[in-house]
Amino acid sequence: MQQLNFEPVLTAEKEEALREQVRDFLQQYGPFKPGNMIDSWSVCDPEFSRSLAKHGWLGMTWPSEYGGGDKSYLERYVVIEELLAAGAPVGAHWVADRQSGPLLLKFGTQEQREYFLPKIVNGECFFAIGMSEPNSGSDLASIKTHAERVEGGWLVNGSKIWTSWAHACHQMITLCRTAPASENRHAGLSQFIVDLKAEGLTIRPIVTLAGEKHFNEIFFDNVFVPDNRVVGKLNDGWNQVMAELAFERSGPERFLSSYQLLEAAIQVLREAELAQQAETVIGQYVARLMVLRQMSLSVANQLQQGKLPVNEASVVKDLGTSFEQELPEAMRLILAIEPRPSAEHGVERLLSDAILKAPSFSLRGGTREILRGIIARGLGLR
Ligand SMILES: Cc1cc2nc3c(=O)[nH]c(=O)nc-3n(C[C@H](O)[C@H](O)[C@H](O)COP(=O)(O)OP(=O)(O)OC[C@H]3O[C@@H](n4cnc5c(N)ncnc54)[C@H](O)[C@@H]3O)c2cc1C
Repeated sequence: MQQLNFEPVLTAEKEEALREQVRDFLQQYGPFKPGNMIDSWSVCDPEFSRSLAKHGWLGMTWPSEYGGGDKSYLERYVVIEELLAAGAPVGAHWVADRQSGPLLLKFGTQEQREYFLPKIVNGECFFAIGMSEPNSGSDLASIKTHAERVEGGWLVNGSKIWTSWAHACHQMITLCRTAPASENRHAGLSQFIVDLKAEGLTIRPIVTLAGEKHFNEIFFDNVFVPDNRVVGKLNDGWNQVMAELAFERSGPERFLSSYQLLEAAIQVLREAELAQQAETVIGQYVARLMVLRQMSLSVANQLQQGKLPVNEASVVKDLGTSFEQELPEAMRLILAIEPRPSAEHGVERLLSDAILKAPSFSLRGGTREILRGIIARGLGLR
């Protein structure tokens, strides 16, 4: 059986000094709007993203020739874990910084890197993910949106769904079928950088359970994409998407989405007479959090070494999203309070937001069942 590698990693003085800088910065900005603190990496605030850019905290690991910071994955890890733990609204640049930029570094042309990466680093260009379609989510290879060859480029027709922040982003990495489906279902797919203001493209909001307009439906009606916006190798989009998803699955955002509620609950319980049951539950959640953090740090370190730890990333996402999804109900039981969506601030508001948002945690970025399938295959069980 194949082994999973979670070699322990410790952050050093350099990373801890950086942590202090981020905390000082957050002291000036925070505390953030209470209604935005749960799942804050889904909260879009372009101004806040640009203030991070001024500190060099976007594109941190990218080469300086594209405006990047030439920093390590561990340094980036420390910055993003501090931002997420504070409930900072990092959603505007999140996808571009986490996966679109790294995708272009790995597969993009020199022109694409020189054009897009400095803009991302400056907080001037945000990216959306155009993978899911109305009848293709987990079974991504079944997508119907297609791009047809025309002079100078491609004409895209079809639709996408659940596209986070497409209305606030500038570009979208869009997966399209460029050759008819064959026996090899994964062949014939390609990725394009699509301008979200292009003629023929319509974006319609979908209101979430929490009442927010966060994700969208997108319709393509003969949208022209020039040749220089094809990413990587034509018809090899599947392999590129798989590499992209590995960047997406292992970060601290996969277990910190409801962290602010844990911190608030501990504060409430500190001030109250702590029942033994509450103490036990808090202890269990803090212990799970510490283990997840170590596992996720270990994956960041493997990315630094140029490895592609797909199975380890899937394990972190499965365990991490279970943690952040179970936390609201556990806190509700020990705090004995009612969730109150109308509460201006405080633990009632955090609890209410966490309950409304938690169901999505294990769906986005690949569902629990799909991740478990990947892990089983990685372990040689399938
Ligand atoms: C908050 C949020 C933000 C999102 N943002 C984006 C985005 O920006 N861009 C984007 O492209 N997509 C986005 N998505 C879509 C997300 O990637 C899909 O929802 C996800 O991949 C699941 O696809 P689906 O919704 O079509 O569900 P389905 O694939 O229909 O799955 C339904 C259920 O069946 C199960 N299932 C399916 N296949 C199998 C199988 N083979 N074995 C066992 N069980 C199976 C699933 O696990 C799930 O429980 C977002 C989703 C959410 C919730």
